Amino acid sequence: MMTRLFRITAATLLFSVSSLGVAAENHTLRLAQTWGPNAPILGETTENMAEMAEEMSGGRLKIRIDSANKHKAPFGIFDMVRNGQYDMGHTASYYYKGTIPNAMYFTTTPFGLIAPEMYAWFYHGGGMELMQKVYEPYGLLSFPGGNTGNQMGGWFNKEINSVEDLKGLKMRTPGFAGEVMSELGVAVTNLPPGELYTALERGTIDAVEWVGPALDFPMGFHQIAKYYYSGWQEPGAEVQFLINEKSWNKLPKDLQAILRVAMRTAAYDMYIQTTHESGVAWDRMKEDYPNVTHKTFPPEVIEAMRDATDKLLAEAAEKDDLAEEIIDSQLDYLKQVRQWTNISDKAYLNSIAGE
Ligand code: CA
Repeated sequence: MMTRLFRITAATLLFSVSSLGVAAENHTLRLAQTWGPNAPILGETTENMAEMAEEMSGGRLKIRIDSANKHKAPFGIFDMVRNGQYDMGHTASYYYKGTIPNAMYFTTTPFGLIAPEMYAWFYHGGGMELMQKVYEPYGLLSFPGGNTGNQMGGWFNKEINSVEDLKGLKMRTPGFAGEVMSELGVAVTNLPPGELYTALERGTIDAVEWVGPALDFPMGFHQIAKYYYSGWQEPGAEVQFLINEKSWNKLPKDLQAILRVAMRTAAYDMYIQTTHESGVAWDRMKEDYPNVTHKTFPPEVIEAMRDATDKLLAEAAEKDDLAEEIIDSQLDYLKQVRQWTNISDKAYLNSIAGE
């Protein structure tokens, strides 16, 4: 009798607690993204993440997304999440190199890790811990938010045959690569994504580096520029989710876990979606605009870019202990993982070249 009573009481209690719990545990997070409304792939990534989080949580976790047209601050995501105006952001760390220079390396480093190596570094090589070390003083958490894969070097209206050809060129290219290009005499600018086409069309800029065929195709650069160069500057660029630490701490453990899984899955989805759509888009660009010519930078130019990169990395490491720790971590990791990439993917592609 006692046992039966106890069972009933326990069951009743559990029912009441969980009912109350459900009522109290609905959370809505506001997310600001750098991208415009309906931004291909990048915007789809945040929507994908929000849908997964809502579905996995049975509707207890909702994420409301504001695009750049709403908040009007495509490069203000770091500040808006930091000061609590938004709970979350989706952006690229290297847009904030003026405020938080050490965050740059978590997007990409020229001549650095390619996408699978970058993910391996984040999740198994200490990258996540270092990223947290950089963002923690600002009351932020950061998570990988999607990889673009190897980025193209950009759209040019003239051939680049020597370092001399780069001098005085007005080009949009952000992050560390922008600094490298400055070293080589390029007049670097970082215009918001929405202004790039017009700037290139009107000659405000001579060249533009955005991402790769998947994301460049909707921008229309192939309609107004002739040469499409392979890259060196963003071998595996990762965008980031930023979360205000207070907003994160308000979430119960299960919703934190759901959010983590949703972000990680959406990031991976972005990587494979970009791979897929780049194949489709490059095929179409070549067909619709047969004048578009694929090029690679000549060895002399690549060597100058590499020298400038090494010089700037050494200077950054010299100036700041944490920068040194991150740069060393990436370089050491690359040294090890690249041996594997070389005898696997690279050897495979080389050995079947021409087929
Ligand atoms: Ca880029």
